[in-house]
Amino acid sequence: MPMGEFKIIARYFAPLATDPGAFGLLDDAAAITPPPGRDLVVTTDTLVATIHFLADDPADTIARKALRVNLSDLAAKGAEPIGYLLSLALPENWSKAWLERFALGLKEDQNIFGLSLLGGDTVRTPGPLTISITAFGSVATGGIIRRGSGKVGDYLYVSGTIGDAALGLHVRQGNKIAAGWILTDQLKSDLQRRYLVPEPRLALVPALAGAASAAMDISDGLVGDLAKMLQSEGIGAEIAFDAIPLSTGAAKIVSQDPEALSLILGGGDDYEILAAIPPEKTKDFEGAAELAGVTVSRIGRLVENGGSVVVADANGGKLKVMQPSYAHF
Ligand code: ADP
Ligand code: MG
Repeated sequence: MPMGEFKIIARYFAPLATDPGAFGLLDDAAAITPPPGRDLVVTTDTLVATIHFLADDPADTIARKALRVNLSDLAAKGAEPIGYLLSLALPENWSKAWLERFALGLKEDQNIFGLSLLGGDTVRTPGPLTISITAFGSVATGGIIRRGSGKVGDYLYVSGTIGDAALGLHVRQGNKIAAGWILTDQLKSDLQRRYLVPEPRLALVPALAGAASAAMDISDGLVGDLAKMLQSEGIGAEIAFDAIPLSTGAAKIVSQDPEALSLILGGGDDYEILAAIPPEKTKDFEGAAELAGVTVSRIGRLVENGGSVVVADANGGKLKVMQPSYAHF
C-alpha cells in the first residue's frame, strides 16, 4: 500500500526529531533558542542525484553526505551544530526500504555530531531525487569566522587530505582518466569512501575559534575556493604543491599520472577546512588541532600579490591549474 506524506513523516522522520522544539514534527514550524551568549548560524545545501551523488549510492550514505556538507559549513564558521531541516523531493520510484535506510544514515550522524532533526518538507518530483538540508548552529556572539578576513602574512592551513573525493569519483566511474591508475582495492575503496561520506571537521571548531582570522570549507576545489578567500584589496595567496597533504592513494596516483595534479588542486567534494592563522597563533592552533585529533597542514601564506593564487612546484616554478574549481554554471 502506498504511504501518504503524513505516514512517511511519522514513521521515518519523527523519531529523528529529538529536540523538544521540533514538537515531534506535529506542528507547522519548530522553535529554536540558541544558548545564551551565542549567535545562530544558518547554512543550506541542496544535493541533486547524478550531480552530487549517484542515484544508486546507498541511501544511508546519501543521507549522511547531505547532512555532512552542511555540518562542514558550520565547522568552517566555528559553529557548534544545533539541528537541521530536511526537504526531500522523492522521485516516483521511492521505496520504504530506501527511506528506512536513508533515515538510519541520518540517525547515525545525529548521534555522532549531536544534533536533531527540526522539520522539513516532503514532496514528489518528476525529476531526480533532490535533498535540501538547512543546518543551524551557534557561535559565541559576534564570533562567526568569516572567509575574507585573513591578513597578509597569515599562514594557510588545511585539515585532512586534499583531492581524495574527486579522485574517488573518477575511480568509481571507472572512466578514461582513471584507467591508468594502478591502486590496490583497499586504496580504491578508501578514495571512493571520501566521495560518498565526507568528514565534517566539527572537531576542529575549538582550534579555529581560538586562532583563525578567516576560514571556509573546501567544497569546490582547493585553488578556486582559496581564491574566494581573497576579498581585500591586493591580497593574494601562495601555496606549495609539495605541502598539500595527500592520502596514500592520492600520492600514488600523482606519481603515476601527473595530470591528476589538477584534479587534486581543483576537484570538488573535499569538505576539509581551509584556515588563515596569524603567525603568533600557529602554535596554539596546531596544539588545539592535535588535541582534537585532526591533522592540519600548513600549505602556504597570504601575501601581497594582487589577488591571485600561486601554486609553487618543487623546483620553485609555478603550476598551471587548468580548472581551479567545480562550477555549476
Ligand atoms: P505544512 O503543511 O504545514 O507545510 P507538512 O505537512 O509539510 O506541514 O509537515 C508537517 C510537519 O512535518 C512539519 O513539522 C514539518 O516540518 C515536518 N516535515 C515534513 N517533511 C519532513 C521531512 N522530510 N523531514 C522532517 N520533517 C518533515
Ligand atoms: Mg510543509
